[in-house]
Amino acid sequence: MASVTSTWTEPSDSPLTLLLLGRGTDPASERGVDCPGDLPAPSDPDLVARATAAKAALGSRVFVLGHHYQRDEVIQFADVTGDSFKLAQQAAARPDAEFIVFCGVHFMAESADILTTPAQRVILPDLAAGCSMADMAVLGQVETAWEHFEDLGIAGDIVPVTYMNSSADIKGFVGRNKGVVCTSSNANRALTWSFEQGSKVFFLPDQHLGRNTAVLEMGFDLDDCVLYDPHKPNGGLTGEQLRNARMILWRGHCSVHGRFTLDSVREVRERVPGVNVLVHPECRHDVVRAADYVGSTEYIIKALDAAPAGSAWAVGTELNLVRRLALAHPDKQIMFLDRTVCYCSTMNRIDLPHLVWALEELVAGRVPNVISVDEKTAHEARVALDQMLALP
Ligand code: SF4
Repeated sequence: MASVTSTWTEPSDSPLTLLLLGRGTDPASERGVDCPGDLPAPSDPDLVARATAAKAALGSRVFVLGHHYQRDEVIQFADVTGDSFKLAQQAAARPDAEFIVFCGVHFMAESADILTTPAQRVILPDLAAGCSMADMAVLGQVETAWEHFEDLGIAGDIVPVTYMNSSADIKGFVGRNKGVVCTSSNANRALTWSFEQGSKVFFLPDQHLGRNTAVLEMGFDLDDCVLYDPHKPNGGLTGEQLRNARMILWRGHCSVHGRFTLDSVREVRERVPGVNVLVHPECRHDVVRAADYVGSTEYIIKALDAAPAGSAWAVGTELNLVRRLALAHPDKQIMFLDRTVCYCSTMNRIDLPHLVWALEELVAGRVPNVISVDEKTAHEARVALDQMLALP
């Protein structure tokens, strides 16, 4: 069996690089970021011991979820790791756990709150851990768009579909308008179902997942898709464009996956002959077209697990995950698709000091940073989530 030494190259140890990679700390800027408590110092040498002790003291009362894009220092304390939907399901499968500590971002904690029992409390260790993509679709903007579709007389033809990476408000909007939530694994099935219910889809908030699924997996033409820009009157589209469109894509994107370019793909192919380019469907359409393989985070993990020793892979997804996969598979040549650092800055808000703080607060009988979705929104969002679970 062929064997190669891992070619993962650690960036230079400059303070800035270490900060970007989440393996360094800046006490001057990191303390107290939207955190109501007294955070432990990032330089505290006992942080690992403190987190271990607090978690042990809480026992089965606490369940810690870690998203794949989290830092290693946090992932080591996760009871389960996964993508956003898997983690929400895992939370729902643990009704005995009083506290769900969600090491992820805000919309994920909302989904966990929607799917868990009213007695359970979902905690986000740093409230500043949002998602730039989810924030690109605000309920008021989406309702304005829908009113415009109603004025044009086309709303009855449209099925709204939202990616899991959206706020509870948006999932609620989709639920009350008879739509469905999707993940990057089931977007094709969700769109197939939606086109059986209506002739058009209004896809929120990630234009790339919507376009890539419709064009590359379902055979639509790029001309069937229009881009609705919430910052322009009527989305920047004429009535005729909206009437003719099959896919109305919201102008949103992931700031991490949106950074990979066609040049990244060309450059790695020149540099590493025979390399397999594997990307997430949140990447831009031209990047996904140029890649060899495309799939969700779970697909990427499985593809690399199954890859033969000695094979080379350039992976277009978040840096923490690619780095962990490269270190887990030293017999394969696994590299980041782009040569510049590209990590999810909001995910990285959840660091060890915030996790220690949240766990120790729970031990002290205080429940910090609770993420709670109001009952009406939760009910409507659950309708859209249940529709996803019922997809054929
Ligand atoms: S990686 Fe992109 S979609 Fe995921 S949380 Fe970060 S900004 Fe949001």
